[in-house]
Amino acid sequence: MSYDKSNIFAKILRGEIPCDRVYEDDWALAFRDIEPQAPVHVLVIPKGPYASSDDFAARATGEEIIGFFRAVGRVARDLGVVGSGYRILSNCGPDAHQEVMHFHVHIFAGKDLGRMIKPVDK
Ligand code: 5GP
Repeated sequence: MSYDKSNIFAKILRGEIPCDRVYEDDWALAFRDIEPQAPVHVLVIPKGPYASSDDFAARATGEEIIGFFRAVGRVARDLGVVGSGYRILSNCGPDAHQEVMHFHVHIFAGKDLGRMIKPVDK
């Protein structure tokens, strides 16, 4: 999958559209989801042009991967949700309903999030 730099998160990274930023460093930007699905719902995106988790895993440098996941942990700690717990999730491709084609991790927290997914239909 090629990276389309007109996606909405690329525009946020370039400062062309605003976001409610909670953290930024050399590797990642974290901001609140525009349509939160939990009391705490933050998106963490890498600075580099990666379309999905698959693209990131395949093409990102070790430095980028370490920097990104260190940022995810840092954001959760800064949000104060490590004790109560949180969920990280990344949708990849059509079956997962990935909407924005710039790799991102969702951080959900702030309530009992229930079981991860529904049991498979038999
Ligand atoms: P996906 O389905 O790709 O994993 O999730 C994309 C997420 O991006 C959704 O939760 C959606 O609410 C969020 N989102 C889409 N456009 C914007 C935007 O312009 N700003 C922010 N902050 N979040 C957005």
